[in-house]
Amino acid sequence: MGWKFLMHPDALVSKVFKARYFPNASFLEAGVGSNPSFVWSSIRESQEIFRAGMRWKVGNGSRVRVWGDPWLTDKTNPYIITPEPDYLHGPCVNNLFCQNTKNWDYDLLRDIFCQRDVECIMSVPTSLADFDDSMYWGGEGKGIYTVKSAYRIAMEREGRAGVVGWSGVWKLNIPPKFKCFFWSLCSLRLPTKDLLCMKQVNCDQVCLLCGLANESDIHVFANCSFARSCWRLLNTTWRLAYLESVHAWVEEMWIELTSSTLEQAIMVCWSIWEARNQLCWKNSCLAPGAVVAYAQAFYDSWQSANAMLHGTGSISHDADSDAAAWQPPRNGYYKLNIDVAMDYRNRRMGFGWVCRDERGYVHAVIMERREGLYSVKEAEAMGARLSSKLMLSFVFAKRSRNMVAHTVASHALCNTEASRVEYLDSIPRFLSTVV
Ligand SMILES: [Zn+2]
Repeated sequence: MGWKFLMHPDALVSKVFKARYFPNASFLEAGVGSNPSFVWSSIRESQEIFRAGMRWKVGNGSRVRVWGDPWLTDKTNPYIITPEPDYLHGPCVNNLFCQNTKNWDYDLLRDIFCQRDVECIMSVPTSLADFDDSMYWGGEGKGIYTVKSAYRIAMEREGRAGVVGWSGVWKLNIPPKFKCFFWSLCSLRLPTKDLLCMKQVNCDQVCLLCGLANESDIHVFANCSFARSCWRLLNTTWRLAYLESVHAWVEEMWIELTSSTLEQAIMVCWSIWEARNQLCWKNSCLAPGAVVAYAQAFYDSWQSANAMLHGTGSISHDADSDAAAWQPPRNGYYKLNIDVAMDYRNRRMGFGWVCRDERGYVHAVIMERREGLYSVKEAEAMGARLSSKLMLSFVFAKRSRNMVAHTVASHALCNTEASRVEYLDSIPRFLSTVV
């Protein structure tokens, strides 16, 4: 019924309840009211679940409040975490667009928000059309409410009502061994020296990595100078405060880091523990830079393998195979190949468009780099959007038949001179050996 109130406000039942219990607010903000009926009290019980599962889809941005509304695409926390400055008075999301365009004002975002929020905002796709903002159910891929997903959210909420929110680790896109490791860390089961001493194991308690303090879980992963060097290298603005417990530390991670950075942070934790064990058993020590690089290489490989599974990725192929696999358009037609390359670590995307005729002659090459990281489907849709007025039909092409566009998209990622470059009737040098 709560879903009906939100998605079908014109239905008779929605109008009746709204008039009685929340005439000047939405269902999500409705109070219990005076002398509530049993039915209303029961429906209102679901309010917290809807608050946790509902998301705003940004259209013209005039209805979504920057602070207080769930409009970011981050799975773990869809809300802005930067405190609202005093001089702003409840702005809506459209105030963050560049004037006369629907693109995010990157300079404005960096002036107001912390890095985590800037990354999350840049990852929200904007629309050229002037459609209204709308709500959808974030618990399902299709955005439609199901009882099953609501039940799952309710169970997760119960889990989070305990000490920390790390039960969400099972949802992250990292290999299972990292999840299991992190679960052990959060469950206080890693055999750190303080734990071994408590269990009457005869060993010293000095930290192997710094030699300056006793070894405990919070010391190894947060307070140790070795760990702090690793976190600085991970290039986040995450505050490196000294903390008393792993649970408080993990809670902070869950609130402040984006899903992508959180995944990398967990892999760095694993890498720190590996370095500690290597020092313990093999007496060889990795530098913090090597520890972080090892974790990030693992992370990049995992993301690339997953992207390949879903039809996109950044694994290069032999360029000759594209020339053989690419199919020219019919006589008198042009073919526009489009591709997107994702840089998960730096949270940016590269778009590539290559227009060729029936002889394979290149008429135009465009490459564009964008900050932020859309989902794979959103990125492909965004790539197609630019060319939608020119094309009569869309066909999905396998990577092996789309290598030229992919090469352009990959170059867009590392082109530091300009975010967008167009080549008309000429071929960039990096493509001369490919086409
Ligand atoms: Zn230490």
